[in-house]
Amino acid sequence: MALINKFLTNKFEEPYILVCTSKSQMLFSKDLLDKEGIENDLIPTPKGFGGVCTTAIKFDKKFEQKVREIIKKNNIEYEGIYSLKDKYKYNLSEIFNMNISDTLKDIVKKVEANIELNKEEIKYLLEVENEEYDALIRMADIIRKECVGDRIEIRAAIEFSNYCRKNCNYCGVRRDNKIKRYRMTEEEIIDEVEKLYKVGIKTVILQSGEDPYYTTDRMLSIIKEIKQKFRMGITLSIGEREEEEYRLFSDAGVNNYLLKIETASRRLFELIHPDDDYDIRVKHTRLIKEAGMRAASGGMIGLPTQTIDEIAEDIIFQRDFGIHMIGFGPFLPAKGTPYENCKPGDLKLSLKVVAVTRIVCQHVFLPATTAIATLHPDGQTLALKAGANTIMLISTPPSLRDNYQIYSNKNMVDLSFAIKSTRDAKRKLPKYLNYDYLKELGYEIEDELI
Ligand code: SAM
Ligand code: SF4
Repeated sequence: MALINKFLTNKFEEPYILVCTSKSQMLFSKDLLDKEGIENDLIPTPKGFGGVCTTAIKFDKKFEQKVREIIKKNNIEYEGIYSLKDKYKYNLSEIFNMNISDTLKDIVKKVEANIELNKEEIKYLLEVENEEYDALIRMADIIRKECVGDRIEIRAAIEFSNYCRKNCNYCGVRRDNKIKRYRMTEEEIIDEVEKLYKVGIKTVILQSGEDPYYTTDRMLSIIKEIKQKFRMGITLSIGEREEEEYRLFSDAGVNNYLLKIETASRRLFELIHPDDDYDIRVKHTRLIKEAGMRAASGGMIGLPTQTIDEIAEDIIFQRDFGIHMIGFGPFLPAKGTPYENCKPGDLKLSLKVVAVTRIVCQHVFLPATTAIATLHPDGQTLALKAGANTIMLISTPPSLRDNYQIYSNKNMVDLSFAIKSTRDAKRKLPKYLNYDYLKELGYEIEDELI
C-alpha cells in the first residue's frame, strides 16, 4: 500500500506546471498565483519540459483556466503550461533481462512509466544486493544519461572561512573544535575566483562556517564583484541567514544556495544539531526557493543511529521539496568532535543512495561528493557510474585547505582528480573549460574526453 506522503508537499491531485521564460517572469508569476490563493510549488523543471537549470511552477489542474487568465492579463512571458500526466517515459527494457525479483520488476515498470515511487519501494531499492544491485546502478545510469547527458558539470568551492558559531556534532570546524581559524579577505576570494574564471569554470561555490563576520554588506560586495568582473554563476553555502538576506543575495545574482537538510528525520536532526531547529531548516529550504535561487540540499549517509527508513525519507524530502542539486555523501568522522570515534558511512549504501536519488528525482544535479572520494579512492568514479553528474573541486588556497577539515583526511579533489574520475567513468568533461590554457598549464587531456 502506498504510504501517505509525510512532507505533504504533494498536494496536487492532477499536477500541472507553468514554465516561464526567465527567473524574473517565474517569480512574478508565483507572486500573482500566491495573491490569488492558488496553491503552488517551485520544482526543478521535469525532463521533457525544459532545461535542468530551470524552475517550473507546479499547481493543480483545477486552476488551469485561472492561471491562463492571470498570464494573459499580466503579459507573462512563458514557454508553456503542461500536464504532468504526459511525463517523459524511459526505456528500461534491458533491466528486465537481468536476474531480478518480481518486486523489483514491478518497481522498474513504475520507473519506466515515470510513476512516483513510494517509501516501501524506495526502501526496497536501498536494500538490493548482488545482481539486483547491478540492476539498480544500471537503471540510474540510463536515467542519468537521458536527463543530463554524458558531460560532467564541474563547479569549484572556495572555503573562505572556517569560523563557525555552530556546534554540529559531526563537523570538524564546529565552534568548540580547537583548530586554527582563518578568514579570507574579499581580495583573496576574488583572486581565487579569477583563477577559476581563467580555466573556464562557470560556477563558483562560496562556502564557510556560519560566520557573522561576513555581514550582508560584505557578502553582497563579494557577490557583486564576482558578477561584474567574471559573470560567473554563484552558489552560496554559508549556513542559515535571514529571509531578507536570501532575497538580497538572489537579486544580486546568486543562482544557487546550498543548505543541506542533512537528515529529513526530525529525531536524528535534533540529535546531531545542538543549536539548529528542524522546522527552521525546512522553512529556510522554502525561503531560498521563494527568493528565486535554486535550492541545493542533500545529507549524510551512515550518521550514528540512522536507519534505512530515515534514508528513504531523506530521498523523498529532496523530491517533494523540489531540490535542484542533491549532495548525498557518506558521514565521515572528524577529529575532535563528539563523533570522532563513530564508524564512517558505508560505500555501497552511499552509492545506492546516489542511484535511488537519480531514479526518484531525475532531472537534477547530483554531485559525486568529496566525502565519497575520501571514503574510497574510486568513490568518485563509482558515484559517477551510479547516477551522479557533478564534481565540486576544492579551490581553497593550498595554505588554508588543511584547516577546513570538516572530516579528517579530506580528499582535496582538484582538477587532475576530476579529470581522472571523468576518464575512469568513461564520461566527458564540460565544453566550457578553457582547454588550450589547461594544456599550457600541463594538464593531459585526451581529445575523447572533450
Ligand atoms: N556551514 C554551512 C552549512 O552547514 O551549511 C556550510 C559548510 S558545511 C561544512 C558543508 C557541509 O559539510 C554540510 O552540509 C555537511 O553535510 C558536510 N559535513 C560536515 N561535516 C561532515 C562530516 N563529518 N562528514 C560528512 N559531511 C560533513
Ligand atoms: Fe558550522 Fe556548517 Fe559545520 Fe555546522 S556543518 S558546524 S554550521 S560549518
